[in-house]
Amino acid sequence: METDVAIIGAGPAGMFAALELAEKSNLKILLIDMGRDIKERRCPVTITGICERCSPCSQMSGIGGAGTLSSGLLNLRPDIGGNLEDLTDSPELSWDLVRFVDDVFVKYDAPQNVYTADDEQVKDLARKAAASGIRFVPIPQRHMGTDNTPRVIENFKDDLIKKGVHLLIRKRVTQIEQGKIQLNDGSDIYCNYILAAPGRIGAAWLAEQVRKLNISIKHGPIDIGVRVEVPAIVMDPVIEVNYDPKFHIYSKTYDDFVRTFCTNARGFVVQEVYDSTIGVNGHAMHSKKSDNTNFAFLVRVNLTEPIEDTTAYGQSIAAISTTLGGGKPLLQRLGDLKQWRRSTWDRIRRSNVKPTLVSVTPGDIAMAFPHRIVTDILEGLDKLDNVVPGVASSSTLLYAPEIKFYANMIHVDQKLETAVPNLFVAGDGAGLSGGIVTAAATGIIAARGILTKEGIEDT
Ligand SMILES: Cc1cc2nc3c(=O)[nH]c(=O)nc-3n(C[C@H](O)[C@H](O)[C@H](O)COP(=O)(O)OP(=O)(O)OC[C@H]3O[C@@H](n4cnc5c(N)ncnc54)[C@H](O)[C@@H]3O)c2cc1C
Repeated sequence: METDVAIIGAGPAGMFAALELAEKSNLKILLIDMGRDIKERRCPVTITGICERCSPCSQMSGIGGAGTLSSGLLNLRPDIGGNLEDLTDSPELSWDLVRFVDDVFVKYDAPQNVYTADDEQVKDLARKAAASGIRFVPIPQRHMGTDNTPRVIENFKDDLIKKGVHLLIRKRVTQIEQGKIQLNDGSDIYCNYILAAPGRIGAAWLAEQVRKLNISIKHGPIDIGVRVEVPAIVMDPVIEVNYDPKFHIYSKTYDDFVRTFCTNARGFVVQEVYDSTIGVNGHAMHSKKSDNTNFAFLVRVNLTEPIEDTTAYGQSIAAISTTLGGGKPLLQRLGDLKQWRRSTWDRIRRSNVKPTLVSVTPGDIAMAFPHRIVTDILEGLDKLDNVVPGVASSSTLLYAPEIKFYANMIHVDQKLETAVPNLFVAGDGAGLSGGIVTAAATGIIAARGILTKEGIEDT
């Protein structure tokens, strides 16, 4: 088979790249994904909380990519989920990209409402946070919702097909060479340009491919922590100001960076699978609500020589947690963690917060996490309690582990082209982004790089 551009991965990076190329050129575009079509993607985790390990994982793979079965929260800032300014070298262009991505989602019927707070409320919260040594980062956000996102992606996919993009679903790319890729059925695809956007699920594979091609690559930081669950009324006042409030904290003892991430108002905690280990995540739906709000509370871990492999470090913590939990996530009340004792079902039942994920093992997070990370979490929550009273109450629930692995960062130029001519990379799998909007923006940057090489300027 032959094509002008082969795009590997139909996540936000791949889909936005395909759109940009289809709208601005006559290039023949092939968009390949190893996962399922959008309507066939079913993740038992999001329905029952239990992962039955489909292959490839429906949560992470398929048309729309990893965020498709999630809350679909669009963070409308270039410095959240990566930093587009670092890639574009232009604050103006990075904001333009964010607006452009948002407009496309709205065109495909994302909900109209954007969560912003009026200035006074934001200022009040920022002031309160600052008084406790916390930085509050206000972000305009569009919440598509777990039940709406697949519909938006379906509209997007239909439009790509109308615009002439060819889709190849349930085919895995096994090998990348200059001007050629190979599929798992043994067939070869010859192409002028390759854009690899395989997301987090394809990050290890992409790293292996680029190493073989002698493209340089380096380890990035990871985030290790817990999913915190509190009664919704505790978080309501800050959620009124920002739907997914981001607080940045430095811990007292170690001066480590700790942050809140991915808040799900009246949402559910869900189990997540990382290769052979178990973790947690959270989601929120427009149609179904719980009495609780959950958010990730994460400690940034950056390793320097002689051991730089943050992924191996995170995986070993995930493995210990999975062993301790007997294959299920650990659940502990904050009060028990503070007392350095394990939680039991009996103690959890006495708590006034009812867990939304029950396929868990009550246990002791301090036996799975390094003391430094536990200290960061305890100190961070205590500080946050000054801004969000009740968040560090003894009945607060902590699920572990929540680990955010980021891909190794592939060395690219400003067009996101690698040292191999006409091989471009984009999205989370290349270590260039960490969210739907930023991944989509990197897809656009790479597509514009291809257009420039084709002599199509003014993009
Ligand atoms: C549960 C969950 C919830 C999330 N919620 C949010 C959220 O609310 N807001 C937000 O901003 N971000 C969220 N994210 C993160 C967001 O989904 C990702 O940052 C984003 O999807 C990355 O886009 P991407 O295009 O780089 O890769 P992905 O979306 O991961 O897409 C990559 C695609 O490539 C395919 N692929 C991989 N390898 C191959 C191969 N060898 N051959 C063919 N195909 C391949 C995969 O099947 C996949 O479909 C969430 C992630 C998860 C897992």
